[in-house]
Amino acid sequence: MKISTLLIIAFMSFMMPYDIVQAQEPLQPGIALSFDDTYINEWYEANEVFREYGWKVTFYLSRFHRFSEEEIAKLHRLEADGHEIAAHGYHHIRGVDYIAENGVEAYLDYEIRPMMSVMEQNNFLPTTFAYPYGNRNDQLDTLLLERFQLLRGTTSGNPDVENFRGFYNGSNLVFGRGIDSHRDDYHIEYLLSLLEYAREKNKIVILFGHKTVAEFTDRNQTEYNTLFALFDYMKDNDMRFYTMEELSRMKN
Ligand SMILES: [Zn+2]
Repeated sequence: MKISTLLIIAFMSFMMPYDIVQAQEPLQPGIALSFDDTYINEWYEANEVFREYGWKVTFYLSRFHRFSEEEIAKLHRLEADGHEIAAHGYHHIRGVDYIAENGVEAYLDYEIRPMMSVMEQNNFLPTTFAYPYGNRNDQLDTLLLERFQLLRGTTSGNPDVENFRGFYNGSNLVFGRGIDSHRDDYHIEYLLSLLEYAREKNKIVILFGHKTVAEFTDRNQTEYNTLFALFDYMKDNDMRFYTMEELSRMKN
C-alpha cells in the first residue's frame, strides 16, 4: 500500500464522528432461535438440557387461554432465565385469508386483541409476533407493526447461502428458517453452512422450531441432536444467542 493511501485512511478515521465508527462495528455473529405454538412442558425440559450453552431463545405462544396455571408458572421461569415470551396468535389462524373473508376489525378481535389481553392478565407484555404458517402480506405487516416492534415471517428451501433470506436484515420484518426434522429441506449440514457463513460475514441466522424432543416421531418436532450440533458450533466459534426482542432494538 502506498504511503499516500495510508495517510488518507489515517485522516479519514481521525475525521470520522464517534457514532459512525460505532455503527460500523460488526455484529457478533449468532443465532436468533425461536420455538412456536404451545409446547411449554417440552421447552421447560429442554431448558434444563441446554442451559449449559447459555441459550437465550424466543417462545412464540399461541392459544394462550388454554394453558394451565402450572404451564404459565413455567413460562415465567423461562422468562426469568432470559428467554423471551412472545405472541403467535390467539387461535393460530392464517391472517391474510381471515382478513380477506372477514375484514381487519374482525381479525383483530378474533386473533390479536384477546391474545394481548390474556397475556397481559398473566403479566407478559409481548413485543414481537410470529405469523402462524408464515401467512402474511404488506397490509398485515402494516397493521401489526402498530402493535409490535418486530414480525417474523418464514423462509424455506436450501438456496446458496449468500441468497438465504433468513439472515437478520436490519428491518422489523425478518424471516425465520424451520429446523424441524420432518421438513423436506431439513439438512443439518446446510444449517451448519449457514452458521459458517454467518461467522465469516458477521451475520445472525434466524431459525425456528416447534416441540423440542430427544428423538422425533412426528411433524413439528425439533430434535435435541439438531440443537446440540448448532450450539456446539456456536460455542466453538464464539457466536451468541439473540432473542427477537433484541433484534427489534437493533433495527436501523
Ligand atoms: Zn405456529
